[in-house]
Amino acid sequence: MARLLIIGGSDADIAAALRAREVDPAADVTVVVADAFPNYSICGLPFYLSGEVPDWRALAHRTAAEIEGHGITLRLDHTARAIDPVRRAVTVVDRDGSAQELAYDRLVIATGAVPIRPRIAGLDLPGVYTLHSMEDSFAVHARLALDPMRAAVVIGGGYIGTEMGDSVIDVCGCIDPCAASQSSTVCRGRQAF
Ligand SMILES: Cc1cc2nc3c(=O)[nH]c(=O)nc-3n(C[C@H](O)[C@H](O)[C@H](O)COP(=O)(O)OP(=O)(O)OC[C@H]3O[C@@H](n4cnc5c(N)ncnc54)[C@H](O)[C@@H]3O)c2cc1C
Repeated sequence: MARLLIIGGSDADIAAALRAREVDPAADVTVVVADAFPNYSICGLPFYLSGEVPDWRALAHRTAAEIEGHGITLRLDHTARAIDPVRRAVTVVDRDGSAQELAYDRLVIATGAVPIRPRIAGLDLPGVYTLHSMEDSFAVHARLALDPMRAAVVIGGGYIGTEMGDSVIDVCGCIDPCAASQSSTVCRGRQAF
């Protein structure tokens, strides 16, 4: 039985795992995921933060149980640290730091992208967030629960920045279009961050 090991648990990875089981129902497919959120729609994070999606669990394309129901083994909270292509083994580490080796016949790496952290002074200060993962959104959400918005600045005017600008409007009700036209989005309103 072919052992397929997939590193990463998002759109590309779960699609590969499901397809592999479809092509070969006997395939031994294991998915190693660095976090606890396999197959979540990170595209929906701005809508979770705006409140349009009240429960983050609704962002799951499939639950872990549904994925496992397709005969796929999920290793959540396991991060791949090293690949030995000669021995065909991947070293993974869990949240407690325990390491183990997983053997494979075929390996798929679909670990996504890492957001650019521009050289901006203060990027690591409290109250400054990136938005890429479920955990990033929980950090923003926790802050909003503690401290209602007074003013928000969204840095980045691509589609994610624009969607976050839209989310901020949903919460605080206005936007400064001048700042928005300069590829950043600033919101000031009655309940702004
Ligand atoms: C806020 C936001 C909004 C977006 N909106 C849209 C949209 O509207 N439309 C659209 O088409 N796209 C959108 N995107 C982009 C889209 O989400 C990505 O293109 C897509 O998620 C890429 O999928 P992926 O599987 O390649 O990688 P990712 O989704 O980045 O997943 C990578 C996976 O690899 C795992 N991983 C990483 N390193 C390791 C490791 N060492 N070991 C184990 N696991 C690891 C991660 O935990 C994760 O499960 C948005 C992205 C964001 C952040």
